This record gives sequence, structure tokens and C-alpha cells, in this order.
Amino acid sequence: MAASSKDDALVESVLWSAADIDKRVAELGRAISGDFEGLPIAVLGIATGAFMFTADLVRYISEPHLVDFVRIQSYGNSTVSSGVATISTDCKLDLKDKHVIVVEDIIDTGVTLSKLVPHLESKGAASVSVCALLDKKARRKVELKLPTGGRFYAGYECPDGFVVGYGMDHAERFRGLPYVGILKPEVYQ
Ligand code: 5GP
Ligand code: MG
Ligand code: MG
Repeated sequence: MAASSKDDALVESVLWSAADIDKRVAELGRAISGDFEGLPIAVLGIATGAFMFTADLVRYISEPHLVDFVRIQSYGNSTVSSGVATISTDCKLDLKDKHVIVVEDIIDTGVTLSKLVPHLESKGAASVSVCALLDKKARRKVELKLPTGGRFYAGYECPDGFVVGYGMDHAERFRGLPYVGILKPEVYQ
């Protein structure tokens, strides 16, 4: 059971509780385990936002797998994407012939993943898939193209609104909340 937090008061509404998330993450982990059964898997979380999701997801992947994190930034401390993504920390694993599962907290414009996926493919990965907890489909600016063999997994379609918790921040705060909620606009306005 998570501690109640002073951050709770700044959340306008809870979209998915810790229990909802756990159930959905288990389903995603089981789907990945089935789809990549017997194949070499590398799980690549995008830090920092996907740290909690990655930690939970790998516990539901029953096939052997490697885990690493990359850093790629498009946001800074703003709530609006800058439109340009920069890889600041690359993966340290050898991805050659691995089936890569990129774990992302939320897809918004699609800029981040459209930069990262081809980069990982160029390292000789056997396939590159994406597993995002949240998908803000309505806000997509760049269509996400996955190379042959890549699969797309999404936990939930996310309504428009700035969300925090379960790893997701505003100015590095709120990441420890065990649920996902809409941040009160007064926090960033
Ligand atoms: P994209 O490149 O798809 O526009 O943005 C992806 C990144 O933007 C996500 O990984 C996340 O870090 C950040 N992001 C997008 N929407 C939200 C949101 O509603 N809340 C938070 N905390 N981050 C977001
Ligand atoms: Mg992210
Ligand atoms: Mg952020």
C-alpha cells in the first residue's frame, strides 16, 4: 500500500488507480511473453518517465529478457513537446538480433518514438516493438512506423489533459504517485 502524499491534493482526478494499472500491466506482460516466446528479448525503458512501468512490466514477462534504459528528451520542464527529440543516453546492450520492446509512459505527438525506433533498428535489432502505458492518440503529429515484425502495445487511450503519476512528472515532481491522474491546471498555468 502506497503512502498518501501531499501531491494528491494537486491532482484533479484519478484516471487509473494502482489496482487498474496492475491488472493492465499484467495483461501487457503476458501478451509480450506469448508473442515473443522462445526469442531473445531486450526491454528498453525510456527514462525517467517509464521507470515504474518498466519495473512492473518486466515482472510479468515470463520469457528470459535483458533490461536497460535510454534517455531521450523532447519536453524539458514544459507541458508542451518541443517537437525535436534528442537521445542523451544510449542503450548499453548489444541489440544485434534481439527483439527490442521499447517501454514508454505515454505517446503524445509521436516525435520521441519516431526518433528512437529507427535508431534501435539501425543497431541490428531483429524487431522493434513499442509498449506504451498511455496513448494520447488524438494528439499525434508524427505517425509511428514500426519495422517489420514490430508490435504495438498500449495500456489505455489517454484523454487530452496533462497527466502525472506512475513515473510521469511535471518538472520532475509527482513521479512516485502510484496512480495516473490529471494534474490541476493551476500547477502549471
Ligand atoms: P511525444 O514525443 O510523443 O510528443 O512525447 C512523449 C513524451 O512526452 C512522453 O514520454 C512524456 O515524457 C511526455 N508527455 C507527453 N504527454 C504527457 C503528459 O500528459 N504528462 C506527462 N507527465 N508527460 C507527458
Ligand atoms: Mg517518456
Ligand atoms: Mg517529463
